[in-house]
Amino acid sequence: MAGTASIHGSISEDHTEFLLHSYRRIRQTVSERSSDATTLPDPAELAHAIAALPHAGNTDFLSPRGAPAALEHILSALAPGLNNQNLSGRYYGFVTGGVLPVAEAADNVVTALDQNVQVNMPGHSAAPAVEDAALSMLVALLELGPDADWPARTFTTGATGSNVLGLACGREAVVARRAEGVSVAEVGFLAACQVAGIKGIQVLTSMGHASLSKAASIVGLGHHAVKELPASPEEPWRLDLDAVERELAREGVASIVAVSAGEVNTGRFATNALDMPKLRSLADRYGAWVHVDGAFGIFARALPKTDEFLNLHANVAGLELADSIAADGHKILNVPYDAGIFLCRDASIPSQVFQNPNAAYLATPSRAGGAIIHSALNVGLENSRRFRALPVYAVLLSEGRQGIASMVARMVALARELAAYIRASEDYEWLPDKDAPLENSFMVVLFRAMDPALNEVLVDRINATRKIFVSGTKWKGQKACRIAVSNWRADAAKDLPIVQEVLTSVAQQQ
Ligand SMILES: *Cc1c(COP(=O)(O)O)cnc(C)c1O
Repeated sequence: MAGTASIHGSISEDHTEFLLHSYRRIRQTVSERSSDATTLPDPAELAHAIAALPHAGNTDFLSPRGAPAALEHILSALAPGLNNQNLSGRYYGFVTGGVLPVAEAADNVVTALDQNVQVNMPGHSAAPAVEDAALSMLVALLELGPDADWPARTFTTGATGSNVLGLACGREAVVARRAEGVSVAEVGFLAACQVAGIKGIQVLTSMGHASLSKAASIVGLGHHAVKELPASPEEPWRLDLDAVERELAREGVASIVAVSAGEVNTGRFATNALDMPKLRSLADRYGAWVHVDGAFGIFARALPKTDEFLNLHANVAGLELADSIAADGHKILNVPYDAGIFLCRDASIPSQVFQNPNAAYLATPSRAGGAIIHSALNVGLENSRRFRALPVYAVLLSEGRQGIASMVARMVALARELAAYIRASEDYEWLPDKDAPLENSFMVVLFRAMDPALNEVLVDRINATRKIFVSGTKWKGQKACRIAVSNWRADAAKDLPIVQEVLTSVAQQQ
């Protein structure tokens, strides 16, 4: 293969050999890396990778190298500079998830067959029906009630994208609920609010994810529209429903309530089984929209219904009462990036907001097994995008309810063992509440070092070991460290001793 420096794009060749060879090389590279399973790249290799990038000043800049050489460059020069967040299983930064092998395989099918799923023309492709089937399976997995309750739904780039869709739909709905027939989509935000007699739209939340403020900016509400209504200083992730009611009752202001179903620092939840019905009736009384940001947290609903998970089930009960839900495929579900999920209870609001006016040829709905499937382009942002559903579909088909339940349970089990270790340790303090029952914790472990000097450098010290990777955050004004277990490889028996060893050695380095 090497030496045949073919410049691809030449249509006469059969590219099968090249692709088979490529995939063998890719897998070979991945296996070599998996065996040592560090989290971050070696600093020298990272620098090499960056130095290997083409320079505009060089004489060979943009001269064709051919496909085999391009692939070799990626695998030999660039890949060593990439991290092992997928491969190590002990990369606990942010909430990133990994990639289940079946999802990777399906993702390759997505690329090989490159379907544009947005346009759903009869007889064109099964892809829109597959997308809809994957979403139905998710609705069932998460026990969100009858499938028909979620008529408008699509795959997005991620929970950020889904939060943008949720706020955009909320904005449309809360104005229309004040003044029938007035549409932000038609006349714009300013004019619609003037006609409806609305001074502004606020987003009520408790420890809303940063992307919620970003979404508020994108849809024209602004960062300042996001209002934090914490239940108490001890439980700032919980939503204060009395405060919500006071805000909903404000004269001339319309509201979207954004429920943090899984707060990123603590993994805790804004509401519980009693709160959601109350919130639903408040929203109905005041014409508010309820959006759930369940990026990773909503997958607590997929946990086994055993005693150890009862508290978590209570925390995510009632989320099906929302008007819209954001979730991520590329976190807990362990599919590759570019898989967010958006579900909306209202069939018409999304098509009002996202329709392409004057492009009727794009909008034709098709029928699959009796159900009408609308073109996804009228539910979401893109007019063209990849077949995002397929890796999600593959994981749900392969693992089923039981497989997903035990995968999420494994993540929680490791997180709880880590929490128990930290709680008992003299070097570290478990946050946010060292006396909380372990049964309240999901797959995030927040902690800090007792020694203030160590706490300042804790995250860097831990990550420098390259054995585990954690993210830094702040808790009540002080630096804190966060372990988020979201990779399918999570295995308490294997991982716990390694994390313990890292934490012990970092504490002893003083
Ligand atoms: C990760 C996350 C987001 C953003 O999701 P992306 O997939 O990164 O766009 C939003 N909300 C919560 C709660 C999250 O954890």
